[in-house]
Amino acid sequence: MSKAIKSIVSQDVRNKVVLIRADFNIPIQDGKIQDITRVSRSLPTIKFLLNAGSKVVICSHLGRPNGEHVEAFSLRPLITALSDILKIKVHFTISCIGQGALEAKKNLKPGEILLLENVRFHKGETENNIEFARELSGLCDFFVNDAFSCSHRAHASLHAITNFLPSFSGMLLDEEIKALTSVLNSPAKPVAALVGGAKISTKINIIEFLITKMDFLVIGGAMANTFILAKGYDVGKSMVERDAINLAKTILEKSKKFDCKIILPEDLVVSKQFEENSDHKIVNTSSIPSEMMALDIGPKSIENIKSIFENIKTLLWNGPLGAFEINPFGTGTFTLAKFAADLTIKNQLITVAGGGDTASALNKSGVAEDFTYISSAGGAFLEWLEGIELPAISALGNN
Ligand code: ADP
Ligand code: MG
Repeated sequence: MSKAIKSIVSQDVRNKVVLIRADFNIPIQDGKIQDITRVSRSLPTIKFLLNAGSKVVICSHLGRPNGEHVEAFSLRPLITALSDILKIKVHFTISCIGQGALEAKKNLKPGEILLLENVRFHKGETENNIEFARELSGLCDFFVNDAFSCSHRAHASLHAITNFLPSFSGMLLDEEIKALTSVLNSPAKPVAALVGGAKISTKINIIEFLITKMDFLVIGGAMANTFILAKGYDVGKSMVERDAINLAKTILEKSKKFDCKIILPEDLVVSKQFEENSDHKIVNTSSIPSEMMALDIGPKSIENIKSIFENIKTLLWNGPLGAFEINPFGTGTFTLAKFAADLTIKNQLITVAGGGDTASALNKSGVAEDFTYISSAGGAFLEWLEGIELPAISALGNN
């Protein structure tokens, strides 16, 4: 990042009205919260501010209401959730801007919370509208971005808002940036990235960036099939992107220039069907039967990757190594997750992972807790891995 970001924890916030941009974009059905994880991750900053005697104003988006008030996307169910967790009264306004919001901010006392209604009920939010941001900032003293997962978007409550208030990072954002910076910019070496998942085309920019940074790049999942094809082998009925062969060839070539060793699976688990417990067998990568598809990496590949894990100090993981959702094709992903977690517990490896399906695969493996850090951000994590400066983070550094 170009300029240093200041954390709110180093500020005197007593009696100040602090506006936090949180990511409360959580699944809610018929007014009932389905998963509170994202809210839990926001608690350290909220608690810090409450204890320090701030007046805490929280804003967030929820879903895609397209600039209209849509009750299904209301943050209202969070009033009770937050007051139950924090054991304090949570005030609420039915609009994040306007007279009602200003009144509520004025009446707020130190140690209290005001939750503002969904910022995306106003078109100005996604348009990064200056006037909307100015209104949102009204009567606040400080702005805190604690929504790394939204920071790839230049939206008003993340970006334009920094024009109107002294702006700081929150504790969750600090933690996320620290983990990602330590892996990409100053990792303990040797460092490896493991990239899996479905499609090479969605991750091409990530792979191109990673070969300039990593000592090893382990490729698995359906993405490996395109590389296997590029090496001249048949991939049978496997999921593959035939039009990305040249991309794969270019990457294999470029990796040599940057001294990054690419590791492809030596063997694979193949099946005729993409189905739970379907008949399967293990074959060498060079001999995938024409009527079968590769759904996981095989035991030789697992052993090979284990030996790499034993010889590196930092691992960055994005993408499952097989179709982990269907049994038994999660074996490669789960076995290696467990192995990486064990090395992390023994302090031999720093393990940072992220991505929507990756997080759910690691949760399913039961060892997610033992990883050094798992990012809760999907899109923002992936853009960071492409080496892109996230607009809302850059904006924090500009004041
Ligand atoms: P993330 O969301 O973590 O970035 P992706 O969306 O890129 O990960 O990829 C996850 C998907 O890739 C999973 O749904 C998984 O089933 C699929 N996948 C991985 N390997 C294979 C394979 N060999 N064949 C078919 N699908 C696969
Ligand atoms: Mg995904």
